[in-house]
Amino acid sequence: QRDYLELSGLTVSFDGFVAVDGVDLAVLPGDLRFLIGPNGAGKTTLIDAVSGLVAATGSARYAGQELLGRKVHRIARLGVGRTFQTASVFEELTVLQNLDIAAGHRRGPLTLARRRRGVPEEVRRTLGTIGLTDLLDTPAGELAHGQKQWLEIGMLLVQDARLLMLDEPVAGMSAEEKDETGRLLRRIGTDRVVVVVEHDMDFMRAFAQSVTVLHAGSVIAEGSVREVQADPRVQEVYLGP
Ligand code: ADP
Repeated sequence: QRDYLELSGLTVSFDGFVAVDGVDLAVLPGDLRFLIGPNGAGKTTLIDAVSGLVAATGSARYAGQELLGRKVHRIARLGVGRTFQTASVFEELTVLQNLDIAAGHRRGPLTLARRRRGVPEEVRRTLGTIGLTDLLDTPAGELAHGQKQWLEIGMLLVQDARLLMLDEPVAGMSAEEKDETGRLLRRIGTDRVVVVVEHDMDFMRAFAQSVTVLHAGSVIAEGSVREVQADPRVQEVYLGP
């Protein structure tokens, strides 16, 4: 099993302030991993480091390749994708065009010949996975909040991302949208490495396969939802001593 994420001693400092402090972490495909922790714990900085947006020391390996020190687009080409707290889709373009553009990043520009053959197979499949087949001609700007997030996840899937890191995917969603998102994460997580940074504890309880708790840049607990909830250190961090 080579297709997994392994961090060892991952450390990120900003001007001497250590935001991520020697994190060891392994996430296998099929293990829908939630990364939780109070504000400022270092969760976003950790996925920023893995996706190449901030410099880090230590090691971050995916599928046997060292990611640290590589440029963002090179890391993406190794099958690593991430979303941000606010969905970044092209609002004026349709759902299909957004997916086509994302797919094109991997395969080069759309040719007229390819257009005539119709919707490419991986785009068609992804539309089904994210539940937007009926909205393929809708401008992304007209989508509901949840649908935009799903489209952004779809844009990673058509790029063949095998490691997906999602930053608070259900922030601002309705209860129904959260449920739909949880089911989507389960579907895509069966054979991919999925790491979800999340504040929503109900969502975490409902869908996490496993949980890592970060506090002040360090891992303070790891295990099943039940295990981390029962951990006195986790309770202390969330509730105070
Ligand atoms: P979380 O996602 O867990 O809320 P962050 O990763 O956003 O935490 O932040 C971790 C810590 O690092 C915070 O104290 C934050 O203020 C600090 N931090 C994050 N980004 C920067 C930056 N670019 N420069 C300086 N400090 C930063």
